[in-house]
Amino acid sequence: MALVETEYVWRNGKVLKWGDAQVHGLAHGLQYGVSVFEGIRAYTTISGGPRVFKGREHFERLHFSARSYRLPLPYTVDALLAATDELLEKNGLGDAYIRPVVVAPYGQMGPGAQFDVADVMIFAMPSNAESYPSGPKQPISVGISSWRRPPPGTLPVGAKASGNYLSSRLIALEARQNGYDDGIALSHDGLVSEAQASNVFVVKDGIVYTPSASSGILEGITRDVVLSIAQDEGLKVHETALSRETLYDADEIFLTGTASEIVPVGSVDGISVVNQKFDRTRAMQTRYFDLCKMS
Ligand code: PMP
Repeated sequence: MALVETEYVWRNGKVLKWGDAQVHGLAHGLQYGVSVFEGIRAYTTISGGPRVFKGREHFERLHFSARSYRLPLPYTVDALLAATDELLEKNGLGDAYIRPVVVAPYGQMGPGAQFDVADVMIFAMPSNAESYPSGPKQPISVGISSWRRPPPGTLPVGAKASGNYLSSRLIALEARQNGYDDGIALSHDGLVSEAQASNVFVVKDGIVYTPSASSGILEGITRDVVLSIAQDEGLKVHETALSRETLYDADEIFLTGTASEIVPVGSVDGISVVNQKFDRTRAMQTRYFDLCKMS
């Protein structure tokens, strides 16, 4: 994914030039992985300007992630939302990808260091054909990863911390090496968990299934939106334990995430899903994009 520079960043309450967002090589966040972040999208709405989609939910999760690792985050959700709007305007952005990060700062060594302040930054970049493209995606191939998600009690998988993405990186690299577009990891006990950066949905006989929180997933905000859409449409929805073989028996499978939105899965481990028209997935995409673009 291309990184597209914009003119301004927001850092600790100020709008600064893009180049003023450096951190020191010995920042605690770099040494020990103590940094938390979000991935958010803004959409150009039917009424004109950009609107941050589910911004409140994302910044609430950022607070939860920061709290989990005792990172001070002295900006309220409202303040962070206002900062994001300001940044979008300063950078002249419409459809955009927004990346807030809270980094444990430079100044102390050792994993148990305590901080009075953290370094809080927000970046916003355009979403276009090269970078964070939005819209219906082509079906992808996935393979089950040999890497498992961390078991409960190892680290908080529900917090969106940089360190969690070491697992995602291994899943992504292995998938690519094996010729797949993405990988789905299993939980410690062999149940379907999630892909490198998205949640998994299975459609079978008109019923929608997705792994429950106990399967080592990050409970995605897109996942929540999709669950509400499915319920609104009167579909039966089960958040449950899913075995690997349910993926081989699926009518449709799709992945959800803020960046990826809703992506149809064409095959798992080389086994094609039954419905290659992806009717339910396409209908879900339409409803999802309608919501994103509603003002
Ligand atoms: N799981 C992981 C590991 C992710 O990185 C993401 C992307 N944030 C998701 C699921 C989907 O979360 P969301 O819908 O909130 O973007």
